[in-house]
Amino acid sequence: MADLGIPRNTIAVLQKYNFVFQKKFGQNFLIDPRVLEKIVDAAQITPQDCVLEIGPGIGTMTQYLAESAREVVAVEIDRALIPILQDTLSAYDNVTVLNQDIMKVDVGRIVEERNQGRPIKVVANLPYYITTPIIMGLLENHVPLQSITVMVQKEVAERMQVGPGTKEYGALSLAVQYYAMPEVVAHVPANCFMPRPNVDSTVIRLTRYQEPPVEVADEKYLFALIRASFNQRRKTLANGLLGGMGLPREQVVAALEEMGLPASARGEALTLEQFARLSNLLKR
Ligand code: SAM
Repeated sequence: MADLGIPRNTIAVLQKYNFVFQKKFGQNFLIDPRVLEKIVDAAQITPQDCVLEIGPGIGTMTQYLAESAREVVAVEIDRALIPILQDTLSAYDNVTVLNQDIMKVDVGRIVEERNQGRPIKVVANLPYYITTPIIMGLLENHVPLQSITVMVQKEVAERMQVGPGTKEYGALSLAVQYYAMPEVVAHVPANCFMPRPNVDSTVIRLTRYQEPPVEVADEKYLFALIRASFNQRRKTLANGLLGGMGLPREQVVAALEEMGLPASARGEALTLEQFARLSNLLKR
């Protein structure tokens, strides 16, 4: 099968199957071989790797992954794409396509069955409407994985990287930075996709830490605290955590004081280390 990274080959496949783009599935297909090569390079795929691709579309990136990896499992929600994928990937015997919603897939089981439970690599040009739940799900559920290399909306990549004191800083920044090291790999303009999206995109690699960078007594409690703090972004922590977690004001103020922080501190000013310390103090 011809290289689908080349626009005329993608157009030929779309015409052959009379494919109708589904906006609700966030379908913007990559049509730039240089970007595809960059993503696969950044993901550091080796012939030993089992790769999970989320949303293969017509199989463009899947072809590139299949060339480099031992095995690729591709999960695609759109039933109309399944016969197309059977055609475009027919030359590869190391690709399995699952017609499922990634939000309902037991990824841990795929890792168990396909890679004997050893960490896999995730690579995807993600549907933007569910980028955050997909990434949070993979990280928080402790799916065995080495890295997640994904194309996301530029602003989302920024949120994953920033620290306190910026308006982009929030629960996603803290979750990503607790579990993984984020690194921007490439900025990708809208004309590298068909159809063109209305936003610019960024490829980001999240390399999972063996051990989190901070010590936390109860991870679930830490993230409940972080969520409650940012749900009420404009409130002080003492007020926000009273509403969000039912924590008495005095207890929060005492913990903040112990950390050398004012009673008026807001969540958006706290680093990951400080959130970890606060959660350990409040849990105690
Ligand atoms: N990987 C292809 C590429 O780079 O050209 C397509 C990327 S496109 C941005 C996103 C793909 O994810 C589409 O094929 C879409 O149908 C699929 N998708 C959307 N929601 C999904 C879900 N919940 N589970 C699995 N696939 C999904």
